Amino acid sequence: MYGTESIESLLTTKWAGRTLMFYDQTDSTNVQAVREVENGAPHGTLIVADRQTAGKGRRGRGWESPADTNIYFTLVLKPDFTPDRASMLTIVMAYSVNKAIQQEARLDCGIKWPNDIVVNGRKVCGILTEMKVAQGRICHVVIGVGINVGKQEFPAELSEKATCLEEACGAEVSRSSLLARIMKAFEEDYKTFIDCGNLRGLLDGYNQALVNRGAEVRVLDPKGEYEGTALGITENGELLVETGNGEVVEVYAGEVSVRGIYGYV
Ligand code: ATP
Repeated sequence: MYGTESIESLLTTKWAGRTLMFYDQTDSTNVQAVREVENGAPHGTLIVADRQTAGKGRRGRGWESPADTNIYFTLVLKPDFTPDRASMLTIVMAYSVNKAIQQEARLDCGIKWPNDIVVNGRKVCGILTEMKVAQGRICHVVIGVGINVGKQEFPAELSEKATCLEEACGAEVSRSSLLARIMKAFEEDYKTFIDCGNLRGLLDGYNQALVNRGAEVRVLDPKGEYEGTALGITENGELLVETGNGEVVEVYAGEVSVRGIYGYV
């Protein structure tokens, strides 16, 4: 049964997930994580819920979070670096989750920059990183991850855009085992990130997993949309997009989504 015991029995990490809090239901694991931080939860605390009643996406959007079938978790970090680097943690987590899904579900999934994992052009995972800063220093970062695992009916507006791991791989996927694998992968990738001070050590792997690489994309920048060819990411996590006139633009993830010209990817 999916819960504290099954997850703990599979964890092989030193610190990631070693303080574990499992909820049958919560509003949002990111919101719950912040409450736990206020109660003293340490670096590496893992908040897991079987269901979210108000799951969050980027820019105020929601994350569909039905019970009994999916993974919703938030990892708490208390890093010792400056706030401008925190957005790179989304990239680190996307890299770790993508690798763990490939291994656990034996799926040919990939990353849609910056924060989604896709299979066959459809989204199986979203990531939302939030932080609190005081006097120029990070108090905490919470990285929330939602993964569609078991077969489920998606709401009409997601039916063309979303899928789940079991549909894609045609086999059962253990939520506990996948979660433990993600923690292990993230612990390693986080160390590489800290050692380098940026994404240099993960760059080749991330760019290989990037489904947008070499693809025509439309950058949905609130200041004005434009199109170009995605080349890969930089050591700081920006997406390099070559526009029609040969100029290469560094796209910062903050306010921007990227779409394929002919579909979601
Ligand atoms: P995108 O680039 O897909 O617009 P985003 O990265 O800006 O998304 P996210 O925070 O990753 O946004 O996810 C929120 C969006 O994902 C929602 O607006 C909705 O379209 C979609 N979504 C919500 N729940 C799910 C789910 N369970 N599976 C797949 N997609 C979902």
